[in-house]
Amino acid sequence: MVRIRSVRKRFGSLEVLKGIDLDVPAGEVVCVVGPSGSGKSTLLRCVNRLESIDSGRIWVNGELMGYTERDGRLHTLRPHELSRQRRGIGMVFQRFHLFPHRTAIENVMEGPVTVLRTSTAQARRQAKELLDRVGLADRGHHYPAQLSGGQQQRVAIARSLAMRPSLMLFDEPTSALDPELVQEVLAVMRDLAATGMTMMVVTHEMNFAREVGDQLVFMDDGVIVERGDPREVLAAPRHERLRAFLGQVQ
Ligand code: ATP
Ligand code: MG
Repeated sequence: MVRIRSVRKRFGSLEVLKGIDLDVPAGEVVCVVGPSGSGKSTLLRCVNRLESIDSGRIWVNGELMGYTERDGRLHTLRPHELSRQRRGIGMVFQRFHLFPHRTAIENVMEGPVTVLRTSTAQARRQAKELLDRVGLADRGHHYPAQLSGGQQQRVAIARSLAMRPSLMLFDEPTSALDPELVQEVLAVMRDLAATGMTMMVVTHEMNFAREVGDQLVFMDDGVIVERGDPREVLAAPRHERLRAFLGQVQ
């Protein structure tokens, strides 16, 4: 489903990704962990092409992201083609980025109505179903400011799902939340994983990685230092840098 090969990315003189290879098979959950500045967010942002890459290739659903191949050459995709590719990839950030002047249900309806041209009635029906799925059936008419951080994040997840993505990217979705609100968001992600959604999750929640992840990837300084079954990797980390990191987060 996601195939990342030899990806390099630099910001000025700073090389942030130094040759990343990673596969995320359909229906699997890959958890990405690592110290601050190791390149985790940049990697996710390269997958949905919020960032361009300097070299390497990324395929999602068999399609090369950002390019089309013609006459044996790569050509940059036109903006509308890139938008189409990106529509299939949902992203949830640490901060929720909800529209403050729209209710929960209006936030969830926005994408389908404006981008997918879904009818308002249909989008509203679908939004209600999605809010129900994230445990917020009774909060549809609340504005973001009237919701807790955990509830806002669940609305953000519902809003992403409304675009019917085949891949979901999560960048530390619980890091900005008060500790008592973390579990309700992780529970929604766990349910989503159980439906077979393909997910890449940057997180410091090692219990989530252990219980839900199919693969754990440890990044440090722009490279993948260690990877494998989360239960095995966490029980017996091989690299000193991963042991040191786990000592800090657990
Ligand atoms: P954190 O755990 O703090 O979120 P991270 O692993 O997600 O860290 P990235 O955000 O990917 O790390 O950043 C990797 C490096 O790239 C950092 O040194 C960061 O300062 C730098 N960086 C990220 N985005 C940019 C940018 N747009 N311009 C310049 N440097 C950037
Ligand atoms: Mg980050």
